[in-house]
Amino acid sequence: PYAAIGVEINVDTVSAVAVDLAGERLLTWRRSFSAGDSVNQGVAAVGAVIRRVVGRMAKEERQVLGLAVAVPGLVDVQGTVRIAPNLGWRDADLGGDLAKALRDPGFPIQVDNDANFAALAEQRFGAHAGASDLVYLTGEIGVGAGVILDGRLRKGGRGFSGEIGHVQLDPEGPRCHCGRRGCLEAMAGIAAVLRKDVSPAETQVEIEEIVRLARTGDAGTLATLGSVGRDLGKGVSLLANLLNPEVVILGGYYVPLAPWLLPAVHDELAGRVVAEEAGGCQVVASTLGHDAAALGGAARVLDSVDSGRLPG
Ligand code: BGC
Ligand code: ZN
Repeated sequence: PYAAIGVEINVDTVSAVAVDLAGERLLTWRRSFSAGDSVNQGVAAVGAVIRRVVGRMAKEERQVLGLAVAVPGLVDVQGTVRIAPNLGWRDADLGGDLAKALRDPGFPIQVDNDANFAALAEQRFGAHAGASDLVYLTGEIGVGAGVILDGRLRKGGRGFSGEIGHVQLDPEGPRCHCGRRGCLEAMAGIAAVLRKDVSPAETQVEIEEIVRLARTGDAGTLATLGSVGRDLGKGVSLLANLLNPEVVILGGYYVPLAPWLLPAVHDELAGRVVAEEAGGCQVVASTLGHDAAALGGAARVLDSVDSGRLPG
C-alpha cells in the first residue's frame, strides 16, 4: 500500500498528516515549533517530523509517494520560500534543504503556500467539496487566501496570488510583520483579536478564553470581535467583488470565533459588494480542523500521482 504525506508549518507548530490513496487519514502528528528560528532550525524541526512519519509508514509497509510542505508565506512557482513574514524567513530553498537533511528520501518534496494547500483540502475533503469557485482564508496570526476558480487552484504568474492579508486597510493602522501598516492581517488577523502580545504557544488558550467571554456577553470582547469582524468583512468583500466565489471558507482560529465574526462580515458584504448576487456568497467556518493545510498537501500529492499507473 501507499501513503501521501502533508506537512504544515505554523508559527507555533508543525503538523503532519498521512493519507492513503483514497484520501483516508492514516496518521496525524503535531509538535511545537518556534517562529523566529532560522531556516536551518526550521529544516531540522520539520525534518524530524518527516522522519517520524516516514518511519511509521515504513512500519506499516507503506510506500511514500510524495510529500508536500505548506508554508505560511509567499512561495514562488519554483518552490522557493520568498517571504514568510511571520516566520522571518526569506529566500529559502526549503524543499532542497529538506531533501538534503533527509539524505535523498526517495520521494518528491513539494512546497507551497499554506492557504493554497488548505483550499485544495477544502476542494477534496471539505463541506463544500467539489465547489468550483471557493476561497479559503487562513485565520492565524497571518491571513492569506487560497483561490480556486473554475475548479483550479490559481497561483498567479509567479505563485504569489491570494496575499490579501497584506492589502492595506488603514495607512495609520497597526504595524504588520511584513513591515507595512494597517494590513488586513494586522487589523483582522488573530493578533488583532488578542490585542496584546501573546506567545504563539499561548494563542490556543487565549482564544478559548475569548470564546468563553463572548458567550457570557462580555461587552469589551464583543466590541473587539465586532470590529475584527468588520475589518474581516472588508477583506471578504474585496474577494467577492474581485473573484465572485461561491463560498469563502474561514479557517484556523476564525473557526471558533465565527459565531461572533460572521454577522459583521455579512453586514460589510451587504454594504460593499456591487452585485448583490456576488455579495450573497456564502461565508462559512471550515470543518476540516487545524491541519487543513497539511491535509491539502497530502491531497496535492495524490493529485500529482497517476494512481492507475502504480504497481499493485
Ligand atoms: C502570508 C501568507 C500566508 C498567511 C497565513 C501571511 O502573512 O503572507 O503567505 O498564507 O500569512 O499563514
Ligand atoms: Zn502586511
